[in-house]
Amino acid sequence: MQSISSIGVRKRNTDAVYRFIYSQERVSVRDIMEGLDLSIPTVNQHLKQLQALRLVTSRGVMRSTGGRKARAYSIDTGSWVTLGLDVTLRSVSLVAINLPGRTVHQRCKPLPFRNCSEYYREVGRFVAEETRILGAHPQDVMGIGISLPAILSGDGQFTVNAAPLGEMYIPLSAFAESLSAPCSLHNDANAGGYAAFFSMHTAQAYDKRHLAYLSVSDTVGGSIMIGGRMYPGMQQHSAEFGHMTLYPGGMPCYCGQRGCAYAYLNTARLSQAAGGGLEAFFRLLEQGDAGCMEKWEAYLDDLTLLVNNIRAALDCEVIIGGYLGRFIGPHMQTVQAKLAARNMFEKTGGYASACSQIEHISAVGAAMIHQHTAVRQLIARADCPENITG
Ligand SMILES: [Zn+2]
Repeated sequence: MQSISSIGVRKRNTDAVYRFIYSQERVSVRDIMEGLDLSIPTVNQHLKQLQALRLVTSRGVMRSTGGRKARAYSIDTGSWVTLGLDVTLRSVSLVAINLPGRTVHQRCKPLPFRNCSEYYREVGRFVAEETRILGAHPQDVMGIGISLPAILSGDGQFTVNAAPLGEMYIPLSAFAESLSAPCSLHNDANAGGYAAFFSMHTAQAYDKRHLAYLSVSDTVGGSIMIGGRMYPGMQQHSAEFGHMTLYPGGMPCYCGQRGCAYAYLNTARLSQAAGGGLEAFFRLLEQGDAGCMEKWEAYLDDLTLLVNNIRAALDCEVIIGGYLGRFIGPHMQTVQAKLAARNMFEKTGGYASACSQIEHISAVGAAMIHQHTAVRQLIARADCPENITG
């Protein structure tokens, strides 16, 4: 009989083998043995377990460097999917990601938020229908990460403030009762930052990279990723960039204070200036509309004031995301020039970039957070063969 501590070491090593394969794409047994300092029989046992869990697959052989070609192992991209939902005031976006986190399906449904059972049942029907279209069996769905514009309780079981949805308390159980897979709640800006981090950096660089994600949409928030881990703060209130004071005594904010970044940077201000959506604003801007150009110039002054403050506090990459991230890419040279002029330490504003590549970024991030936790739990709960020694 094995001791509890040896079982713990074994599960940690199974997890390490999984993460090693995740970071390398295709590996041989020898690669894992040398990379993690494990014996060949032990590596083989961990691989057997990861294959039984449908996390790793063996397809083909490695390119030969002489001698017999080694069998190649990689993450099983065709076994599991994880769903992500982004719940906003007006719609619900759904994505499905595979194990390496690539989007394999996406859909947005106009569905005004209402904190009532009919709304949650409608979300459940939407998820069931999209899962059917995707062709995934219920047992292949690892779970569902749900992103909301909300501050969550410490245990993630309910929201303590979801003001952008017009609610304070929304329990996870309200969604769970209408969904047929395990689910979890996530702050939308945290989810966006998580997706930005893992899509921008290779696995080998996770430990060394730090990032502040500034989410600019109808709401303004953010998240901080340090070495591949989210910094939550003491009360889950970290990176509330939208409520940093830009102008003391300035315009009122919904939080009750004045001069918050939210009051100046929420994208509704741009949409309203164009009399339509954000697309309309940027179309008019491109056409040289004088009113939009003036508005944009002032907006960028305020945006770079906030980004410069974030950089001064954290000294890390700053990624501009949210709805604004989809449109600001062509303007980043101007943004970077304004940032350079504001900062005595920086000759360029090259530390700031736009996150424009990922559609439904908060839904993708919520799915990723759920998936990473679910994989760890899957490995932790699995029965290990008796003969794995480490
Ligand atoms: Zn505020």
